Amino acid sequence: MNGEQRTVAVVGATGSIGASALDVIARHPARLRASVLAAGSNVAALLQLCAIHRPRHAVIASEAAYAALRDGLRDAGLDTQAHCGDAALEALVSGDECDTVVAAIVGAAGLPSTLAAARAGKRILLANKESLVLAGELLMAAAHAGGATIVPVDSEHNAIFQCLPDAHAHAGLKRIILTASGGPFRGRTRASLADVSVEQAVAHPKWSMGPKISVDSATLMNKGLEVIEAHHLFGVGRDRLDVLVHPQSLVHSLVEFVDGSTLAQLGLPDMRTALAVGLAWPERIASGVSGLDLIAQGGRLDFEPPDLDAFPCLRLAYAALDAGGTATAVLNAANEVAVSAFLQRRIGFLAIPALVEHTLAALPATPATSLAALYEADREARRIATVAIADKAIHA
Ligand code: NAD
Ligand code: MG
Repeated sequence: MNGEQRTVAVVGATGSIGASALDVIARHPARLRASVLAAGSNVAALLQLCAIHRPRHAVIASEAAYAALRDGLRDAGLDTQAHCGDAALEALVSGDECDTVVAAIVGAAGLPSTLAAARAGKRILLANKESLVLAGELLMAAAHAGGATIVPVDSEHNAIFQCLPDAHAHAGLKRIILTASGGPFRGRTRASLADVSVEQAVAHPKWSMGPKISVDSATLMNKGLEVIEAHHLFGVGRDRLDVLVHPQSLVHSLVEFVDGSTLAQLGLPDMRTALAVGLAWPERIASGVSGLDLIAQGGRLDFEPPDLDAFPCLRLAYAALDAGGTATAVLNAANEVAVSAFLQRRIGFLAIPALVEHTLAALPATPATSLAALYEADREARRIATVAIADKAIHA
């Protein structure tokens, strides 16, 4: 970093990853500054963050919330400039106001700003895995063409990145093993999951996260999205991407080489470690996370294979990766609709995989030649899943 201060846009600032990123940034005022903060619709939370971090710019996605943001900044006596909408966000993450972008919007809504940062050659700390599942090839190509550096901050991919920092010169790589906590329902049969509540599904045993990814962890769709994410980030085929359930969530992933070596990265389950890696790489900075005391953590590391019968979402994600083209965009969109309906208590837990399967069957994969084709698949999948929910066509 040569003593220069990095300017960071935190996109999805009011969320769980946003809070962890801002916590690390605030620990290093001489080398890091949050210059742009962006959020979806929660003006009060964004205003609070602006008062603490004093960014140059604040962006709210919802146009209806713009006046409240502008007036709130003025009333607080802050000189942060208010903006709203996608175009403003894309201009800010591409422009001179930041050299680093924390991409932490949840869902496919994160793709436009992540793509803009990639084209502009920024350092991208990528948490928004859905953008890679929707348009992985295009996003990686845009990053390559724009000269952007993507540092994955999903904990598993950050672990792999640390074991394999030069992602495309990995001679001798044999396979990647993503670890999974197994979520709150590890060990349960499929039948016993029919009546689980939203509260049970979002109560993750090891990680504190936003509601959507918490449900994804309970269905194991999160691990499926991560297999697809790893495929794009590290250029590794499905046959060399394995998943192991590791309930302690201390080994964040493993990389095996042809010589018999396996490298792993370990640490407490706290996203600030991965964010600190991304913010300072190739240097290391304090993150606020303490070191790992394996004895204090129970003195053991357990591993078991995932149960694809109880958790079919992981199988569906592998199948979508195999099908290629628009299939992973369809998988992601149907899952977003299903998880949102589950969180609103409109469908049961087992309807999530059922809806994803129904939508994938209704929309066979076609080649994904353009962003427009992927967005069309995304829209059509959302429509089909929404109709199936309204018609109560899925009985799970
Ligand atoms: P969250 O729900 O806590 O926060 C989401 C953020 O996105 C909020 O700031 C919200 O305002 C913003 N947002 C939503 N829609 C928006 C829009 N249209 N425009 C602008 N901003 C918008 O979610 P989270 O748990 O922080 O997860 C964020 C992303 O990081 C997800 O893709 C998730 O899969 C990934 N991730 C999260 C964790 C974790 O520990 N939370 C770990 C790994 C990966
Ligand atoms: Mg993860």
